[in-house]
Amino acid sequence: MTHGPRPVVLATGNAHKVDEVGDILGPGWVVSAQDPDVEETGTTFEENALLKARAVCEATGDLAVADDSGIEIDALDRRPGIHSARWTEESDWIPRVLRELDGVAGERRSGRYVAAAAAVWPDGREVVVRGVVEGHVPDAPRGSGGFGYDPIFVPVEGDGRTFAEMSADEKHDLSHRGRAFRALVEHLA
Ligand code: IMP
Repeated sequence: MTHGPRPVVLATGNAHKVDEVGDILGPGWVVSAQDPDVEETGTTFEENALLKARAVCEATGDLAVADDSGIEIDALDRRPGIHSARWTEESDWIPRVLRELDGVAGERRSGRYVAAAAAVWPDGREVVVRGVVEGHVPDAPRGSGGFGYDPIFVPVEGDGRTFAEMSADEKHDLSHRGRAFRALVEHLA
């Protein structure tokens, strides 16, 4: 018997995440999206990812996956972290980081992207895993790819380019979301 691609619902209202998770999971999966419409009241990436996946699993009756992600900047005491989407309006995400890091020397501009990826099954089973990519914040934004903070994130394992200067595949190879969903997919099979 042959099996076609398997369906999975991603709990998000963010079109960029749907594209990225579709790319990362590859041709074995068909990713649809549903906005979880749930308050992110958790205090960790893992708790918030589970809240979103549970809400969509309950609403659809199907296997649901979700991620919760953000950027932690060491010189800002790991802010904005789980509040990365909400700490200031979207047009100010990058300007605010650069303002707050004004005068902070290169070696102290370290940080990381973190993603927790969760899966929740209708029978109540739950799995949550974490992906991390270490990097630093340059003095000015560079590149137009990716989304969010990508023009001001240079991964340490890369060649000095920001995520916004890389192709989608280059970003997914190193990214927090790539790492989290590649680990999660082991549990979905
Ligand atoms: P969430 O939807 O609550 O997980 O919010 C994640 C937020 O973190 C996004 O809205 C962005 O601000 C930021 N973020 C997470 N992952 C990325 C990424 O891959 N690139 C750029 N910004 C990201």
